[in-house]
Amino acid sequence: MLRWNEVSTDAQAAALMRPAVSASAEVEAICQAIMANVKEQGDTALLNMAKQYDNRETPRLLVPLSEINDAEQQLSSELKYAIDTAYANVKRFHQAQLPKDIKLSTQPGVLCELKYQAIEAVGIYVPGGSAPLPSSVIMQGVLAQLSGAKTVVLTTPVQGDLPINPAILYAAKLCGIKTIVESGGAGAIAAMAYGTDSVPKVNKIFGPGNSFVTMAKQLVAQTIPGMAIDMPAGPSEVLVIADERANPEFIAADLLSQAEHGTDSQVILLSNCALIIAQTEQAIERQLTALSRRDIAAQALANSSFILVDSIEQAFDVSAQYGPEHLILQLADANPYLAKVKNAGSVFVGDYTPESAGDYASGTNHVLPTYGYSATYSSLNLLDFFRTYTVQTITENGLKNLSKAILPLADAEGLDAHASAVKVRLEAMNRGNE
Ligand code: NAD
Repeated sequence: MLRWNEVSTDAQAAALMRPAVSASAEVEAICQAIMANVKEQGDTALLNMAKQYDNRETPRLLVPLSEINDAEQQLSSELKYAIDTAYANVKRFHQAQLPKDIKLSTQPGVLCELKYQAIEAVGIYVPGGSAPLPSSVIMQGVLAQLSGAKTVVLTTPVQGDLPINPAILYAAKLCGIKTIVESGGAGAIAAMAYGTDSVPKVNKIFGPGNSFVTMAKQLVAQTIPGMAIDMPAGPSEVLVIADERANPEFIAADLLSQAEHGTDSQVILLSNCALIIAQTEQAIERQLTALSRRDIAAQALANSSFILVDSIEQAFDVSAQYGPEHLILQLADANPYLAKVKNAGSVFVGDYTPESAGDYASGTNHVLPTYGYSATYSSLNLLDFFRTYTVQTITENGLKNLSKAILPLADAEGLDAHASAVKVRLEAMNRGNE
């Protein structure tokens, strides 16, 4: 347990340091090499990488449509219900985000429009290095479906010689996705950015993933003209703010649910009560032994911090400094504090709102900015699948009036041709009126 007010600012910064950030130069070099390989060798590079990183002896790339359509027969009725419910809730919440075009006159004869247009070809990355994540298919696929994107490509790594997880295929089918590629990591990102024989090139790449996936997304966004990415959504993080009446068993369970994601996940507990921190540490030890991924969770816990703060107000300041992907508020009354929330990807309020609800089925999106990008990036939402453009239509009289704003500005900027484009029209109007 670290006592926030009793340590130096360096020690405070170290307690909030993300484990993945320190390895970024090495990860960048690896990703650059992988991406160059995919650019040169296309599908062959992807097949080799599936052998090398995913231990596939006989890798393949495209999943046949019949396999996508038949996958639901392999699901239990409970899992099918869960996927159907998550799909419906995520769809309901995101359908409400459908944007509306704007059309208005800024002054008489001057009509301005803002139009939303679905991004035509989108790529969806579904992590699969250590666990298949059908929930990530829903969190992205529903949005692509609602936007009306013409091309949707889903890439996901498959481990060993197991078949691709049928829950991923069923979730993809619900979202109307027909192009599913068994490929992961930086290779899959490069394939969607450059295109290969099997993988269509897309305009924007979405999805969370490990440090290699996140780095590759950032690299293609810099190097490919016109390529866009959603956000840096890397290794998962949760920060819990708990007061003296919080339930340590609940806090421990929430912290472990993030820690089990990957060894580079990070969990942070901030409390104004030393007893709650001590009890949570004990509860973690107890609960950890029962987890199938306890080794992963234990390693992630080694990167984590349990911090004693002076007050709940101070906890919100520390949280804003960290900028957590997930922020859980286990407070007697969290509502008055909601206005204090800064730099968080998604917020979970109250004892009965575990992070798993947002991860799977409440309806909010689980693709969220990490690495502190929550200060500048939003959680994934439907607008991310659209681009906007503007239209203006001006009548003769409209231009006559507007010229009084255009001509002096063009003069002030010394741009004669700009002024002339208006003047020739005004002169034509005058000639017409003679
Ligand atoms: P992944 O699919 O992201 O990565 C697996 C791939 O990484 C492999 O297929 C391989 O191509 C590549 N890889 C692995 N080791 C490599 C190496 N040494 N060199 C080069 N490439 C290598 O799956 P994962 O590893 O299980 O990670 C999933 C991540 O996604 C976790 O960190 C989890 O926390 C995160 N996640 C984030 C969010 C979010 O919204 N931010 C949501 C869900 C999951």
